[in-house]
This record gives sequence, C-alpha cells and structure tokens, in this order.
Amino acid sequence: MSDPDIYVPSQTEKGPLHARDVEQARMPCFLGLDYPDDNGHLPETCPLCFDDMTHDSIFRRLPCNHLIHKQCIDKWLCTKDGSCPFCRETFYHLRRPIVVRESLPEPIEDEDKDELEVGRAAFVLWWKKMLCLV
Ligand SMILES: [Zn+2]
Ligand SMILES: [Zn+2]
Repeated sequence: MSDPDIYVPSQTEKGPLHARDVEQARMPCFLGLDYPDDNGHLPETCPLCFDDMTHDSIFRRLPCNHLIHKQCIDKWLCTKDGSCPFCRETFYHLRRPIVVRESLPEPIEDEDKDELEVGRAAFVLWWKKMLCLV
C-alpha cells in the first residue's frame, strides 16, 4: 500500500532531525534587533553555548517559545535530538517523508570506459584527418 519511493520517518522515535526538516519547519528566525518586545524578553544568554544573545545574534524561536541561537539549535536538532534542550518538548513530528531515489544506472566498468576513450580518440583523429588538420 505504501509507495516504495517514499520513506516515512518515525514521528515519535528519539533522535536527531534532518537539516531539511528544521529548515522547513515553522520555527521563525529573528535577528536580535528585530525581535518584537511583546513576544517576551530576549534571554541574555544562549542556553546552549552560554554566549550573550545580542542585538546582532540570529536566533530561532522554537514551538515551545524558547529562544536559542539559530546556529546552536540547528546543530542540536540535527546532531543530538529533535527536542528542545531546555524543556524537552519534542519535535519528532517535524520529520518529513523522504523521497528515496531510484537506483542509478549501472556504472560503466573501467575497461569499457577505456574502450570508450580509445574510441573517442580514434574518432577525433579521423575527424581531424577529414578536415586535413593532421
Ligand atoms: Zn548559542
Ligand atoms: Zn523549550
């Protein structure tokens, strides 16, 4: 019943997300300067790297409303776990189906490739002769 070309990842299993899942998820990014005050206060430090969150920091607001450097949270989500490192809310449901590529055509054997090259060289030579270049 399922399409063999589509791989549907688990929506509940622990583990990291794919970078593409994070990119396509609705988790807005802000530049510190543009962050609207009525959305709550900007934390002074990033909970992951403990660096200051400044007005030129780019950060992401997670669905749980936690604010973390974009670079730090993306790395966390893609290498550690698809969850908020702060409150442990999970985002495994953001995993999207992956289209599994059809198998590529058989690679040409090295021998055949050599033959192909020899054939091509012979053809070029013949063609040059035809044009009286040799
Ligand atoms: Zn950080
Ligand atoms: Zn959170």
